[in-house]
Amino acid sequence: NNLERLIKLENNLILSETDLRILLDTFTKEDLSYAMNRARKVREKVFGNEVYIRGLIELTSYCVCDCLYCGIRRENKNAERYRLTKEEVLSCCRTGHELGFRTFVIQGGEDPYYSDEVMTEIVSSIRKTYPDCAITLSLGERSKESYKKLYDAGADRYLLRHETADEEHYGKLHPKGEHLRVRMKHLWDLKEIGYQVGTGFMVGSPFQDSSTLVKDLLFLKELNPEMVGIGPFVPHHESVFKDFEHGSLDLTLMLLSIIRLMMPDALIPSTTSLGTIHPRGREFGMEAGANVVMPNLSPTDVRKKYLLYDNKAFTGCEAAESLSLLEKSMDSLGFQVVVHRGDSRRAKIRN
Ligand code: SAM
Repeated sequence: NNLERLIKLENNLILSETDLRILLDTFTKEDLSYAMNRARKVREKVFGNEVYIRGLIELTSYCVCDCLYCGIRRENKNAERYRLTKEEVLSCCRTGHELGFRTFVIQGGEDPYYSDEVMTEIVSSIRKTYPDCAITLSLGERSKESYKKLYDAGADRYLLRHETADEEHYGKLHPKGEHLRVRMKHLWDLKEIGYQVGTGFMVGSPFQDSSTLVKDLLFLKELNPEMVGIGPFVPHHESVFKDFEHGSLDLTLMLLSIIRLMMPDALIPSTTSLGTIHPRGREFGMEAGANVVMPNLSPTDVRKKYLLYDNKAFTGCEAAESLSLLEKSMDSLGFQVVVHRGDSRRAKIRN
């Protein structure tokens, strides 16, 4: 039964694809609450009650990609576009550093304006100004040489979700003949260069089913990334997928718990999208084994322009300047927000 399946996962025993699929298809409220309890215990063994925070800086809403799920896709003519300058990014970092952030995540659409020259300049300026901070990039696919230059300029981590580990499903989310194998190659390249790597997927994206999700879990196991980001798909009113339902809260929590049981030392955020589909979503995510939160540190006037999906939260606990609210909320769950880089236990220290 499902409890036995969860116990096997926790004991690092191989679960067959069929078992994983049955677990995802048939879990009950009781199974979910058992999974969440165990995941929280496993998380506690590795990280105690510490919560790592990352300041998210949304660099640009321009994007050359046309991912069908995304609100800032190129074809969305109504999306509001902006770009941050190096000075604006540094000013976000200054605010963030004062608040206690020691990791900055620079995320954006795939925007050729940020050439290697422009981007290395931004990364090396942050590195110089804030030597005590980690720099995470999430800028989509770039060349291997570009990843290397940015790593040499001082970037430590790279987030690139694989989105789905099923080739056919990947094609249904990306209309321009993009290939899953290419995305996977990028992830292996990033690893080889020395980045702490994050990947992940949306839960409940159109055409997903338990067999594609099983492939996601097996790919995570194979790549063994330092970070895993998953959150529910949330429709955007101007995207091709506007009429699809958002991903399920319970399924997201079950997957978070499963991933924590499978990968005890992974850095796993409780995402904004989870906080968007339920007022207590982010808290539930923490109770399902997540150990990272990424409040929004972008300049306030651009936050509403980086609209990946409808109702994306950027106030209250999602706002970096309201860190004290987040601290209180985490405290009430028995967690403690800490001021440090929050590297992966597996990361090599570099100078
Ligand atoms: N361009 C970079 C990339 O694609 O990796 C980084 C920015 S991209 C907007 C960041 C993530 O947002 C994607 O990996 C995707 O999983 C998530 N995302 C996009 N649209 C979404 C939606 N409608 N609902 C939930 N998550 C979404």
